[in-house]
Amino acid sequence: MERSRRGAVRRRPWLGRQTLGLFLIAALGVPFFGDLFGDSALADLMPAPQPSAFRITSPADNAVLNDGNLVLIEGTTVDQGNGRPGRVEVALGNDDTWVPTNVAADDDSRWRFLWSDPAPGFHRIRARALGMDGRPIAEQNEIVEVQATSTAAYGIDNPYATVGAFVKGQLHLHTTSSFDGYASMPPAQDALAYRRRGYQFVAITDHDVISYPKDIIDDSFTLLRGYESTSDTGHIVALDVDQVAPSSWRPQSRIDKINQDGGLAILAHPAWTVGWKDGDMTSLQGYQCMEIFNGMTDAPGRTERAVQLWHEALNAKGYATRIWAVAADDAHNPDQMDKGWVMVKTPRLTPDAIRRAIENGAFYASNGPAFNVLGVMNGAIVAATQDAARVRFIDQDLRVLAEVQAGWAEYRPSGTERWIRVEATTADGKTAWSQPFWIVPNAPQAQLVTDDSGMSLLGQALPGARVDVSDEGQYVGSAIANEQGAFRLKVPATDDGRHDMWLMATAPWPDHLNSQPTLISYPA
Ligand SMILES: [Zn+2]
Ligand SMILES: [Zn+2]
Repeated sequence: MERSRRGAVRRRPWLGRQTLGLFLIAALGVPFFGDLFGDSALADLMPAPQPSAFRITSPADNAVLNDGNLVLIEGTTVDQGNGRPGRVEVALGNDDTWVPTNVAADDDSRWRFLWSDPAPGFHRIRARALGMDGRPIAEQNEIVEVQATSTAAYGIDNPYATVGAFVKGQLHLHTTSSFDGYASMPPAQDALAYRRRGYQFVAITDHDVISYPKDIIDDSFTLLRGYESTSDTGHIVALDVDQVAPSSWRPQSRIDKINQDGGLAILAHPAWTVGWKDGDMTSLQGYQCMEIFNGMTDAPGRTERAVQLWHEALNAKGYATRIWAVAADDAHNPDQMDKGWVMVKTPRLTPDAIRRAIENGAFYASNGPAFNVLGVMNGAIVAATQDAARVRFIDQDLRVLAEVQAGWAEYRPSGTERWIRVEATTADGKTAWSQPFWIVPNAPQAQLVTDDSGMSLLGQALPGARVDVSDEGQYVGSAIANEQGAFRLKVPATDDGRHDMWLMATAPWPDHLNSQPTLISYPA
């Protein structure tokens, strides 16, 4: 979408997360959330009389889709006097895999399909209606363009904007190879016990010992290498490493060693009474995750405290060193299994792919409920769950921005939030915690206007952002975008030839997150 024509606004991809291939989430049985979408979506669903058996109502043919990793494809079927089509199926791109759509429980004329993680580029959407005998009776084709970037003044950094399916994993457990694991099982047996409980991978994390029974790895189950660095100065789970840091070292040295060994460091049970001191979470550097739920040390109030420590760490460290939340068992015997786990969105069940997904935050923590859908759609953070009683959207200051009773939930950021996370909770208090979705400034949009008072830049940026303008390397001035994101800046009118003005937005937070620049050339 770059145009170099003089005078044109040129924008560059900012969050250029590449998504590859297609993943048909409907195959996982996403329920139909039709009645929960609100009036605007429902209005689109009122079909004009059509002679054909069905039609796609959204997205429109030739639509440009550019805001999120989820696209809702929806439509209607039409009764032609001899009954409705039996069902509607969808196929994407040149793939001939037809996937059934979901039909609304209360209105069998409406069907819906959630398309997850389309790659940037042009895509063909095909839908077909099948008669009661299962044979196709009508087909409709559309072409849509998926763009890699949002054209809005701000974007939502979506850790789940990656191709894959969620797999269940355990990142903290002890076997008989731990000094306190005598009631447990040997490593291979222990891992297989998890497999029987539906886990697709585990990291065996014995105290300062790496246990890796690789013979049990196969196509449907894998292992990450790991250990728990164990000291009175704090426990650290190390993942994807093949060496053990001396436990006598202070925590920062142990974290550094884990990173040098190519691994990931998870601060274990941060709110437990043993180990960590106040302030460790914010002062320590180089760790990637922290446990917000630990089944072994769980006690009333402890998870809330750990979540609070997570918020403090996120707010102190900022976007550049985002910390991801983990839930884990820390099981020392079979009775302690399956209390807390992670669901990792990965394209493959390999240690490398899982490690990369954890590093990028493409996972959520849970001690009960599951998210069926988690991502961004049309500028809103969306989450769906079938087994939680409520879904809450929470900001960096632990303020609840929105609360929805079960089912489908979505929240459209105002742009004034620093980051937002989603929490799904069951009636008995079990919780699934998403990772934070950070609000990031996109390149400002602006135009030059001239009136009686001279020349001004008039534009839109992230609300509260400072917009700096330079011309030929010279500072021109800066403006603060208001709560709606609007800004205005007077610029000196010149008539000495062509000028290139660069605009950049900086978020109003301590980490001073910058947008990509926008170039405005004049005369146009
Ligand atoms: Zn521990
Ligand atoms: Zn442990």
